[in-house]
Order: sequence, then C-alpha cells, then structure tokens
Amino acid sequence: MAKIIMKAPLVELDGDEMTRVLWEVIKEKLLLPFVELKTEYYDLGLKNRDNTNDEVTVKSAHAIKKYGVGVKCATITSNSARQKEYDLKQLLPSPNATIRAILDGTVFRKPISVNRVKPSVNTWKAPIVIGRHAYGDVYKAAEMEIDGPGTVELVFTGADGSKRSVKVAEFSGKGIVQGMHNLDESIKSFARACFLYAIDEKIPVWFATKDTISKTYDGRFKIIFNEIYETEFKQKCKDAGVEYFYTLIDDAVARVVKSEGGFLWACKNYDGDVMSDMIASAAGSLAMMTSVLVSPSGVFEYEAAHGTVQQHYYRWQKGEKTSTNPAALIFAWSGALAKRGEIDNTPDLISFAKKLENAVLSSIDEGIMTGDLARLSDPQPEKILNSWEFIDAVAQKLG
Ligand code: NAP
Ligand code: MG
Repeated sequence: MAKIIMKAPLVELDGDEMTRVLWEVIKEKLLLPFVELKTEYYDLGLKNRDNTNDEVTVKSAHAIKKYGVGVKCATITSNSARQKEYDLKQLLPSPNATIRAILDGTVFRKPISVNRVKPSVNTWKAPIVIGRHAYGDVYKAAEMEIDGPGTVELVFTGADGSKRSVKVAEFSGKGIVQGMHNLDESIKSFARACFLYAIDEKIPVWFATKDTISKTYDGRFKIIFNEIYETEFKQKCKDAGVEYFYTLIDDAVARVVKSEGGFLWACKNYDGDVMSDMIASAAGSLAMMTSVLVSPSGVFEYEAAHGTVQQHYYRWQKGEKTSTNPAALIFAWSGALAKRGEIDNTPDLISFAKKLENAVLSSIDEGIMTGDLARLSDPQPEKILNSWEFIDAVAQKLG
C-alpha cells in the first residue's frame, strides 16, 4: 500500500513520562506505516527545556505560527519536587502557558464519545465543547487582606497622570478585597477564536456571563462578543449554518443540563475552568478529552487534555505494561493530520485521520479498551488491555 504524502510538515512537540512513551508507540504502529510523516520536531521533554533555558518551547510556538498546525505531547510543569527529580537548573513556566501567550489562543476541550460509555446526563447525545478564555479575571487578580476599619478604593492613574477612582467598600472590621481586570483585545481574540472554531466544526455557539449583576465588567464581555459577531462573523456563520446565542450564565447552566449537547459553550476564564471539569467527568473520563488551541489568526495546536500520567510512568519504569488510555493522544494526531490535510488540500490525509479515529471508536465499542474505560463501560468488556495491546488492535483495523 502506498503511503500518504504530506505537502507540508506538522510541528511535533514531544513531551514527558508515560505520554512520551506512548507517543513513540503511536507513531510507530499507527502513523509511520501509513503516512510519509513529515514533521518538524521539538523536544519539550523537561530536561531539554531546562538545557535550552526553555528556548525550545518558544521556538516550537513560533514554528506552529509558521506552519499553521502543531501536535503536542503532555509535558511536566516543573515545581520543586520535579526540580529535584530531574536535577533542573531552574523552575520554568508551564509550556502550555508559554505557547498560549505566543499564539494568543483560546483552548477548546471536547470529549470523545463512545457508545459503551454513557454520559451521566442522559439527554446529551453529542459532545459539549468548552471554549475557555484563558486570560485575566481572577487568574491575574490582585488581592489584599483588610486588617480593620477603613475604605477601599479602586484608582486608575492614566498615562497622562489623570486619576479616576471608585469606592469598593467601607470596612467596619477585618475582611478581604480583590481587584481583577481584562483587556478588550484579549476578549476580541477569544470571541474570534470561538467563532472560527464553531464554523470549523459547524456547531452553534453559546456564550454566557453574569451581566445582570456585573454590568460594566461582564457587560463588556457581552458587548464585545456581540460586536465581533455582528461585524466579522455574522455572514460567515450564516453560510456555515452556525447560530450564535447569548444568555445569562445561570440560564446557560440550566439549559446545558437539559440540552442534547452538540454545541460550543464559550466560557469566561473561571467558568471555563470549572465547567470543563464538570463536562469531562459527566462525559466519562479525562483520558477521553481532546484539547485544541486555536489562535485568532487561524493557527491550531492539538493535544490530549490529560497530563503525563506520572504514576503509570513509574510503574512502566519498573517493567509493567500499563493500561494507560492512548485515545486522546491518538486524537491529537488525527486532529492535527486532518487540519494539515484541510489546509494543504490533501483529502487522503483527511480520510486517513477519520479512519484512525473510527478505528479507535469502533475498537472501544467492540469491548477493546484500557482499564480506565472498563470501569465505566456498559456492558463490561471481557478483558482489560494494556496500552500496547490496545494500539495493536487499532492498527489491525487500519489494515
Ligand atoms: P494526569 O497526568 O492527567 O493524571 C491524573 C490521573 O488521571 C492519573 O493518575 C490517572 O488516574 C488518570 N489519567 C489521566 N490520563 C490518563 C490516561 N490517558 N489513561 C488512564 N488514566 C489516565 O495529571 P497529574 O498526574 O496531575 O499530572 C502529571 C503531570 O502532568 C504533572 O507534572 C503536570 O504538570 C502535567 N500536566 C500536563 C498537562 C499538559 O501538558 N497539557 C496537563 C495536565 C498536567 P489513575 O492513577 O487512577 O489511573
Ligand atoms: Mg479546573
């Protein structure tokens, strides 16, 4: 069988621990026999990030910008325990945060649905995708403890020296205060990324805030989102059959639970943080959640939503063939290959990506699965496979 030719490379970001081990197996068994794989490789393994003073991460993000599509393995975010474990010179920021800052992206998380694992919400027929704004609000807030009676004010000092202030509260005793912010440009990028994603996937967009209470802050999110829709995306959405719907966050939550799914839920930073965990666990398992970073300029980076599965890695190092679920990692590759195919106009690559995804889904539905899914599967599978057996079974279906 002739291998599928790629016109342009994918930017490949290798990572750490168990996901790095499986990354190799996926390439060897599921990709290289079928595709003349063209990648520009960056080793984001923790030790190499440390050796290069994180330059490799920055370079990889610029390469994604250049080529348009990247695929990333999970990576360790260093902390003091990891510094000791890997004998690191320094503590480096999370690679995902570095890449996101360079690509100016929004993260979309989508569960992989299979028939044998039913979502906890039985009305959900199609996956709910969370689009999380990843800048500002409570994640970049300034906070202060108030020790006793007094007044807290919010003061803006203009670049020209002018001042404006507003009273936050009159304290009669001890308390706490918080100041947070966001930027119009960041909210615009978020809205653009959401509409681009929804048009790509041909699904409706829901957006919700608490603008009835937070008239200025959340109100601004509502106005900007609507403005971007009206001025840049209304016609494109119409052409793609994509609807835009705004409601209050309370109403959105109630509707989501009663819905059939199949839409993009655009969330402010905190809402997205909390709701993506809710959606992931209600949909089944973290190992079945894909993640894609979409930049407003139309650049895409695909990855699994889960981390490096550290504990499984230590068991693998001791010689165990672990039952780590590679589904989201495989879908990161298929997502990236399909996007490459779409951009380069190589339909063979798109159909291969689809075939690969179907091979994973049909395997699971036939009872071929790893331990994490076996726990959730109805009916129960006859046998729990290790990762290597699972990948071999998927490879069999690719012919
Ligand atoms: P994790 O790797 O997502 O694993 C947490 C637990 O979830 C595992 O112990 C395992 O549960 C289950 N799990 C996750 N993925 C699985 C899979 N594919 N198959 C089967 N079970 C799976 O999170 P973590 O242990 O908190 O973090 C480990 C490292 O990953 C950290 O150093 C962190 O910095 C990094 N991280 C990276 C990313 C990223 O690169 N995007 C994201 C998150 C975390 P059981 O133990 O019960 O089997
Ligand atoms: Mg969270």
